Amino acid sequence: MKHLIILLMVVVAGNAGAAVKVVTSLPDLADLARQIGGEKVVVESIVRGDQNPHAIEVKPSYMMKLKSADLFLMIGMDLELWAPQIIDGSRNSSLEVVDLSRRIAKLEIPASLSASQGDVHRYGNPHYWLDPRNIRIVVEDIVAALSRKSPADEQLFRTNGERYLEKLQTQIRRWEEVMKPFAGSTIITFHKSWTYFAAWLGLTVADQVEPKPGIAPSPSHTAKLISLVRQSGIRVIIVEPFYDASAAEQIARATQAKVLRLPTSCGGTGGATGYMELMDYTIATLAGALK
Ligand SMILES: [Zn+2]
Repeated sequence: MKHLIILLMVVVAGNAGAAVKVVTSLPDLADLARQIGGEKVVVESIVRGDQNPHAIEVKPSYMMKLKSADLFLMIGMDLELWAPQIIDGSRNSSLEVVDLSRRIAKLEIPASLSASQGDVHRYGNPHYWLDPRNIRIVVEDIVAALSRKSPADEQLFRTNGERYLEKLQTQIRRWEEVMKPFAGSTIITFHKSWTYFAAWLGLTVADQVEPKPGIAPSPSHTAKLISLVRQSGIRVIIVEPFYDASAAEQIARATQAKVLRLPTSCGGTGGATGYMELMDYTIATLAGALK
């Protein structure tokens, strides 16, 4: 009994004030928080890599995750339409919510706020994490947020963040090299998830299988895409694994294009355990298909 009490005291003392409890929306943000925080953070994400981040069904277990968290890291720009509900439901008045989009150079901002852009993307395109150059801002903001919660570890967070960004920079140069021959290629995507990615690599996204973000494919729009793909010799249609690919498959059958199932988060498929592995898989698969 005495030993048990001593053991419990050691365990409690070991936890006290040690780890910052972080919850993230996307698994990619969880990976970055772990890379930066190391042993000084405990990180959980709400969305799995194989789920549509726009369409998460709110569950009490998500509120429980936030109940005892110090930080909630999110992409922002309304990607996580479901987030306000779980933040309110957590009743955690000391929770700090960090919107990582604040300093991002945003694309496709609508001239006026309306549903004309579709069901989602009303504040512009939130899929900025697929341009790895934006990850510098994300990492800097996570370093700052963790440092606010655990000022004694600020130097460690900074060092880890810088080390990660150095590695990422090397990879960015390599990815750009791999994709160089395909600059100027035209592709089609299911959803407007690839805007930032395409802008980074000089690809043109001619259209989406969804007539508007969040709006299901329609026969007339699909027919229009079949003639567009034929006319422009488009060879690739990117569809995330969580979307129904039947309209894209229909276009592929009628043309020379092929459907590429590419996740937009790590853990989505392809064995990518972290953000860098996700981008590695994406670049290798896309380059292979455009060859
Ligand atoms: Zn979207």
